Amino acid sequence: MTDTRGTSFLSDVVAIVGRSHVLTDPDAMAGHLTDWTGRWTGAADAVIRPCTTDEVAAVVAACAAHDVAICVQGGNTGLVGGSVPPIEHAGRRPLVVLSTVRMTDIDEVDTRGRCVGVQAGATIEQIDSRAAEHGLRFPVDLASRDSATAGGVVATNAGGVRMIRHGNTRRQVLGIEAVRADGQVLRRWTSLVKDNVGYDIPGLLAGSEGTLAIVTRVLFRLVAPPVSTIVTVAAVRHVEDCFALIDAMTERGLAVEAAEIMTDAGVELVHEHGVRRPVAAHAPFYTLVEVSGTGDVEAVVIDVLDEADVVDAVLEPGPARDLWAARERHTETIARSSTTPVVKLDVSVPIRALPEALVELAAIADLVDHPCRPILFGHVGDGNIHVNLLDVPEPRAEELTGRVFGIVAANGGSISAEHGIGRAKVAWTHLGRSEVDLATMRAIKAALDPAGRLNPGVLFG
Ligand SMILES: Cc1cc2nc3c(=O)[nH]c(=O)nc-3n(C[C@H](O)[C@H](O)[C@H](O)COP(=O)(O)OP(=O)(O)OC[C@H]3O[C@@H](n4cnc5c(N)ncnc54)[C@H](O)[C@@H]3O)c2cc1C
Repeated sequence: MTDTRGTSFLSDVVAIVGRSHVLTDPDAMAGHLTDWTGRWTGAADAVIRPCTTDEVAAVVAACAAHDVAICVQGGNTGLVGGSVPPIEHAGRRPLVVLSTVRMTDIDEVDTRGRCVGVQAGATIEQIDSRAAEHGLRFPVDLASRDSATAGGVVATNAGGVRMIRHGNTRRQVLGIEAVRADGQVLRRWTSLVKDNVGYDIPGLLAGSEGTLAIVTRVLFRLVAPPVSTIVTVAAVRHVEDCFALIDAMTERGLAVEAAEIMTDAGVELVHEHGVRRPVAAHAPFYTLVEVSGTGDVEAVVIDVLDEADVVDAVLEPGPARDLWAARERHTETIARSSTTPVVKLDVSVPIRALPEALVELAAIADLVDHPCRPILFGHVGDGNIHVNLLDVPEPRAEELTGRVFGIVAANGGSISAEHGIGRAKVAWTHLGRSEVDLATMRAIKAALDPAGRLNPGVLFG
């Protein structure tokens, strides 16, 4: 890669990060060019692995000087194709993947302020373990915790299983450090809970999917873990029964830490892949509810279950990893069970519309004349359903996506609950945002990245 002035971009970045952290060998780059789903594959001229904010800034400045585009990558667990470069970029403007894999430092936990500063490449598991050493917890949790990174959860504004209790990732961000497209370092770093000087830049970068700046460090809020938790899985006939159970727990003074939904098809599939069925009885739906409280939480949960309309139920004191496995192994098992890359659509609908929307989404296979095996699960307490369509021939994926989003839009829902838009959903953003809204987002993008160098093809196409 030599530009019009004859200087080599690659030798510039080698000088910044060292030769061993500029990958150009196709085998070494391969893992960075396909996303977790296997559905999105791209091409890049190099993968660059800086380890400090200064190195990121210098790499971005070199990219600006040589007009090289950048695809930002954390743990590469994103499910909408945003973490890998576009394939069609090959032959156009040069593009590199900037991986945060080496940026894993975690500062000392501030126990009084209940916060911790981390580098963008620290994983959710690493951050939570560090918090746990001080009797605290990182409030964002998701099944990809071993690989998903601080930068990734901020950039996607991840939800996850604790969202019902603590809110999404944006709510956990107290401060941020990020490198702008021109190489300047933007730092808004304060543990103040009251600080209203102008625009909420950390809030803006949360959910920006690497299109506005590269997050290099984050100051995260931490929370106290619950004293005592009980996890229950109940087999139920109707979606409404899940909500009745959640309501009953809340009315009895328990705090709902997580509220998930699975279907019989999903629980059976995971069971076939070696996970114990949480309950022996079969029912159309299963809800996993984790609650916390003081006193005899278990006795209260047993009372609630006795009075509830459930087919069968089981409960265990938290963390009840066995019970959680039935829910958490869905994503991975589904990916392994489909004959084609899974069409994964993460949607939300208002709670009142959820029962009807679920029936319509589960019946999607009846509307098409090609293979399609739907498996639905998700964070029911947030109205968030992961629609997974297995065995779909790739040429029919787009049409099917349109049908699912049609159902979601008709029910007043969102085409992206927590995974973002990435490359997968660009064609449908008009279903969730007005023209003026989209134009405002484009104006922000143009202001911060006028040359369109950061994550081309993500969010805006
Ligand atoms: C088994 C499994 C379970 C999951 N469960 C959930 C869940 O419950 N809730 C949920 O929300 N998601 C879930 N996900 C999706 C995924 O884990 C999240 O989207 C996560 O936030 C991605 O983090 P990452 O570090 O892997 O980011 P990547 O996949 O590497 O990147 C995701 C996006 O963020 C951008 N990005 C990454 N790092 C940076 C950075 N430092 N600066 C700027 N932009 C950056 C990328 O360019 C890309 O657009 C799950 C995925 C899997 C595989």
